[in-house]
Amino acid sequence: MQSPAINQAMDILKLIRQVTEGQDDVPVKLAKIIRIIAEQMKADAAACYVAVDDSYLELFASYGFNGDVTHKVTLRYGEGLVGEVAKNNRSLSATDAWAHPKFSYKPELGEEEYKSFLGVPLTRWSRSIGVLTLQNKEVHEYSRLETDILETIAMVLSEVLVSEEMTEYKKTLIKERGIATRERIKGLSLSKGYGIGNAVVHRRRQSVTKIFAEDKEKELQRLETAHRQMNEDLDKKFTSTKLGIGEHVDILDAYRMFAKDKGWYKKIEDNVKSGLTAEAAVERAYEDMWNRLSGTNDSYLKERLHDLRDVADRLQSYLSGDFKNRDEVKNWKDIVVVAQTMGPADLMDYDYHKIRGLIIEDGTPTMHVAIVAKALSIPVIAKIKGIFEEIKTGELIAVDGNDSYVYINPLPAVQEKFKAKIAEKEKLQARLAELKKLPAKTLDGVRIGLYINVGLAFDFDYIEATNCDGIGLYRTEIPFMASDVMPNVEQQMAYYKELMDRAGNKKVIFRSLDVGSDKLLPYWSNMSEENPAIGWRSIRITLDRRAILRKQVRAFLRAAEGKELNVMFPMISDLSEFEEAKETLLIELEKEKRRGGAVPSKVNVGLMIEVPSVVFQLEDILKQADFISIGTNDLAQFTFACDRGNPRLTERYDVLSSPFLKLMGEIVAKADAAGVYCSVCGEMASNPIEAMALIGLGYRNLSSSGASYGRVKSMIRSVNVEEVSDYVKSLLKSQKRTLRPQLMAYAYDHGIEIY
Ligand code: PEP
Ligand code: MG
Repeated sequence: MQSPAINQAMDILKLIRQVTEGQDDVPVKLAKIIRIIAEQMKADAAACYVAVDDSYLELFASYGFNGDVTHKVTLRYGEGLVGEVAKNNRSLSATDAWAHPKFSYKPELGEEEYKSFLGVPLTRWSRSIGVLTLQNKEVHEYSRLETDILETIAMVLSEVLVSEEMTEYKKTLIKERGIATRERIKGLSLSKGYGIGNAVVHRRRQSVTKIFAEDKEKELQRLETAHRQMNEDLDKKFTSTKLGIGEHVDILDAYRMFAKDKGWYKKIEDNVKSGLTAEAAVERAYEDMWNRLSGTNDSYLKERLHDLRDVADRLQSYLSGDFKNRDEVKNWKDIVVVAQTMGPADLMDYDYHKIRGLIIEDGTPTMHVAIVAKALSIPVIAKIKGIFEEIKTGELIAVDGNDSYVYINPLPAVQEKFKAKIAEKEKLQARLAELKKLPAKTLDGVRIGLYINVGLAFDFDYIEATNCDGIGLYRTEIPFMASDVMPNVEQQMAYYKELMDRAGNKKVIFRSLDVGSDKLLPYWSNMSEENPAIGWRSIRITLDRRAILRKQVRAFLRAAEGKELNVMFPMISDLSEFEEAKETLLIELEKEKRRGGAVPSKVNVGLMIEVPSVVFQLEDILKQADFISIGTNDLAQFTFACDRGNPRLTERYDVLSSPFLKLMGEIVAKADAAGVYCSVCGEMASNPIEAMALIGLGYRNLSSSGASYGRVKSMIRSVNVEEVSDYVKSLLKSQKRTLRPQLMAYAYDHGIEIY
């Protein structure tokens, strides 16, 4: 049985539906709807306020007030009773509105005669998009039932407000008046940067309307043609897309393999044979797979569902012929792609030189499309519910990947700000690029070894672009993660050799496989662990599964033929682990020599300092290690017992604090005393102010991300080592939670460039 509220609301909604299905213009429709609501609810007045931007509501339709007040009344969020409803997203009623503390008098409305008030929020994905109000001249206490009815009506009215024709109407108003519709929406940034351009809504998923096929043979034929066409186009796309070699191409290849997967295709064929249309058969095959995979805890498998959805959608668009309309945006210069979800191949549908931003409603940081976009320096925002439905192709969109905001139809002032930010970034980039030829030398002549970290093959380009001293960290797990199967020795060797070749005579430090925790391999079943960050990961895995380590070091040895090879082991928690890993490498070296193969001219073996326990064994370790490199990301995580992936903790502890800086100071002092090469390859080395503190502590080798290289170099060239060392050491006595403000002030006072 339905509640009385629903029953009564249904009667009113029937009347409203007749209006919405009619031919009137939007303002007339809205006026009629508001009149119906007022009359049916026995109110003397009713009004519909619509959010026009971040902070304002405007009266879009009303009944019962003096004259035509439509579009003449605006209110701030929080202003008056209406503003209060919008701000709190909660209904509000007042028997005597004038006596309510939040009441604000609007002379334009001529509200003098009205006493009681009921306002309910109009919402979309739990965000306020307006307010619907009733007012009565008599003192009237609105009942729970009346509120329920109005809230039910508001749900439907909200749908009307986001309808296509309403959006068009709002756009006309914007054009006429130069105002913005909405707003600044907070999301989750998956890739930093700023971009502004016209929205291209990446819409491929269609609901299947025809389920049963009349002619099976014909249907199989349609399926075969669409599938073949899709694969031919994909093949062309992949060979013509100049993304450079490396993992993103691997990702795309994996995707292509999926599209050609026989098992999946056969399932669709079988579904057609059982009587379904090709479209319904594709959906059924997807659903089957979804049912099997969605329950798994394996995040890699879950990610594959994105790829599968992507391939299924693509095939649907070939079945419907829709794929031909993809050129609609060809003439636009700057685009922001908006998708519910998308696969990496979809991005290739657009000229990536034109993509200024990407918004993926269901995006996650590890999804492939985000990895590809990042490699292409495209800002990406995810996790904004409803945005895919809200944005229409052609609307102006600004994406702020630094602060995680999306602006829909930004005000001219906001557009200007964006353009300024983009120009500023380009100027800075150009200025930093000029530093390329200059040495990473401090004001007092101390040469700092400045290296880069690489993972994606795209990063290899930074070797030339930065003119760096070498590669301070090669995260070898990245190609492993992007591959569908464990790469064999030859494949690994090819990856490593490519890097060695690109690096020429520069130093390259390879890190052995550092998987586990958040870095999962698709082809390994991952047992769930209570505490994966301190679980079976990294060197713990490769020592237990020694064959993997042996194969990897063999590939290192072969790739470095005739050159110097530097190998380091991650997550070492005890000297014995380092000894075991080192011995494994040396045995392989001997084997290679015996085999008569070419070997490196020299082999240096080191380790990462990431676990605090090894700091207490450092003197002994330094006797056996050729070099050490500090992984400050993990070292900070374990020192503060603070999950590095938990956003709630991001600001709780600071590496720029006395305990952590003391720890870092101790490590470099011991390494120097032992005469062992020591560098930092964690994020601290990529952040100019933190890198400045490291130099103050005595570090002379830093390895930063390719993208931050110029900023770190600029800091180095403007700092005086002797002075900053004195200052940093003086700070170590401080017990403040963070020393960042002091260090920033120091940099500012001493003209040290911190961008
Ligand atoms: C670190 O922990 O600082 C580090 C460089 O390794 P990763 O970030 O790959 O764990
Ligand atoms: Mg680490």
